Amino acid sequence: MSRILVVEDESAIAELITLNLRHAGFDVFHCSDAAAAQAAVDGRLPDLVLLDWMLPGESGLQLARRWRSEARTRELPVIMLTARADEGDKVAGLESGADDYLTKPFSVNELMARIRAVLRRKAPQALDVAVQLAGLRLDPATRRVSCGGLDLKLGPTEFKLLHFMMSHAERVHSRAQLLDRVWGDHVFIEERTVDVHIKRLREALAPAGAGAMVETVRGAGYRLTAQPQTATGAAATERGSA
Ligand code: CA
Repeated sequence: MSRILVVEDESAIAELITLNLRHAGFDVFHCSDAAAAQAAVDGRLPDLVLLDWMLPGESGLQLARRWRSEARTRELPVIMLTARADEGDKVAGLESGADDYLTKPFSVNELMARIRAVLRRKAPQALDVAVQLAGLRLDPATRRVSCGGLDLKLGPTEFKLLHFMMSHAERVHSRAQLLDRVWGDHVFIEERTVDVHIKRLREALAPAGAGAMVETVRGAGYRLTAQPQTATGAAATERGSA
């Protein structure tokens, strides 16, 4: 389930948004100021933030800028909400790193459409949309994984791990990033836990010959790739020794 953080100090608006998002199946967490929002994000990264511009204390704009400047929150999808409609403010909002910008009052339908659009673009694993890479296919709605017509059996953690890696294929993720994005709690789990589940994931993909798609990038982390180097390397070695 996608987790959305709503940062809004006007309780009537916050309530309206929260109710509608919950109704649409999102897991919603609400904060009324920047300090609480920062604490929430420090605890667990949401899939998306709806961020009001004008907040008591630190503004939404400052908060968005800070998140963009820090490695852990750089990719955090943010939709800025504001009563301001000036062109200059809109530009400032987008320059702060917001992915989209919505002027109050807005319709709930428009808000939902914008949320889905930003998630599709930046956090597709947060939506129940099937993903595909090479012959590998994962469907969150049915919780099935297949490769070349073969159904594969994955444990719940391996499923989430594969879902995240398929949604961000070809990119290298550090163990800390994977803990943060897949486990959702980077503080209390040891990084070697990731290695254990990576190994299980490779084993689960092995019956379809897809285990090598999960690559270890020395000193950096793991990557899911459609063109595994290790498979090519192994094939070359086999040919060389034959
Ligand atoms: Ca406000």
